[in-house]
Amino acid sequence: PETITVGELANRMAARQGEVIKMLMKMGVMATAAQSIDGDTAELVVSEFGHRIKRVADNDVELGIEGIEDKPEDLLPRPPVVTVMGHVDHGKTSLLDALRTTDVAHGEAGGITQHIGAYQVTLSSDQKVTFIDTPGHEAFTSMRARGASVTDIVVLVVAADDGVMPQTVEAIKHAKAASAPIIVAINKMDKPGANPDRVRNELLNHEIVVESMGGDTQEVEVSALKRDGLDRVLEAILLQAEILDLKANPNRIAEGAVIESRLDRGRGSVATVLVQKGTLNRTDIVVAGAHWGRVRALLDDHGKQIKKAGPSVPVEILGMSGVPDAGAPFVVVDSENRAREISEFRQRKAHEKATAMQVAARGTLDQMLA
Ligand code: GDP
Ligand code: MG
Repeated sequence: PETITVGELANRMAARQGEVIKMLMKMGVMATAAQSIDGDTAELVVSEFGHRIKRVADNDVELGIEGIEDKPEDLLPRPPVVTVMGHVDHGKTSLLDALRTTDVAHGEAGGITQHIGAYQVTLSSDQKVTFIDTPGHEAFTSMRARGASVTDIVVLVVAADDGVMPQTVEAIKHAKAASAPIIVAINKMDKPGANPDRVRNELLNHEIVVESMGGDTQEVEVSALKRDGLDRVLEAILLQAEILDLKANPNRIAEGAVIESRLDRGRGSVATVLVQKGTLNRTDIVVAGAHWGRVRALLDDHGKQIKKAGPSVPVEILGMSGVPDAGAPFVVVDSENRAREISEFRQRKAHEKATAMQVAARGTLDQMLA
């Protein structure tokens, strides 16, 4: 059934429990913070508090755990989240590695970061940029399928000596589907065979018109190998971020998405997540996809223990019950019971879906054999 506790509802709206209880009384509903109310009543309360409800995935509508939008006045600027995409061997990893070393916050240690699939750099201007490394675009695709998006800006890497290739086209499609603006990084400019104009022309076939050709897609010629043009890539990102006017409410419980996860022999389930709204705390109870857990440790992109992580910050979470899928949304809830309820609900849904698909497959098989 579609219910939510009064306490959690208050949490989600960053409102006091007392205020919510008072509002409910006005509506003729007597409930304590620990009691559950139905989804319709919750929705009424939410709108009375001046929030809008955005209904996303089916599962979450039924459980009413996601989609409460923040008030405009509660939003604060947040760093841009950038995904680097492009054809294999065009230099995505090289560019990400080179950009990582522009971090001034960690000095020497900046060079020896561990790989967690995402990292944040602090620039000399004190501005921050978050980069996500999406192996095989998997997380990106599965997030798109859920109607969610983690990335604000796509840096499209195209090797100047190779031009637009199948995965370049694939990446363009992803970016367009996600309405994420593209910045073209024409890489390997140090190579003798580099032909950036060919890249510009080939991009025209995919409705990308770069600025030097009169369009509005920023382009930067770079060499990840020689570390040439990194400043201009960052400048382009910051300019694009300014245009997008990115904001989030840091003063609420956290929501975000799983970037990648794995089972570590010593540490158990390790999930890299990107906080998109609110602030994730070390003692929070998190539900991610069909898995949940009380956070046992939060680690930043340098493997350092931290107490909390705000919007656009990538962190590793230890303590989940299993390994959530890349792209799965995560959300903080107010009790272990609630977490268990949601995770069981989702497991049941997933099971039902799998069974239905089996039945459907069997049906077509039967038809074929008839
Ligand atoms: P990815 O598959 O897109 O992640 O590509 P990589 O970053 O792994 O790079 C593929 C190959 O291209 C590696 O051998 C890199 O050293 C090389 N490479 C990457 N960037 C440059 C560059 O700017 N110039 C040159 N000459 N080689 C590069
Ligand atoms: Mg790579």
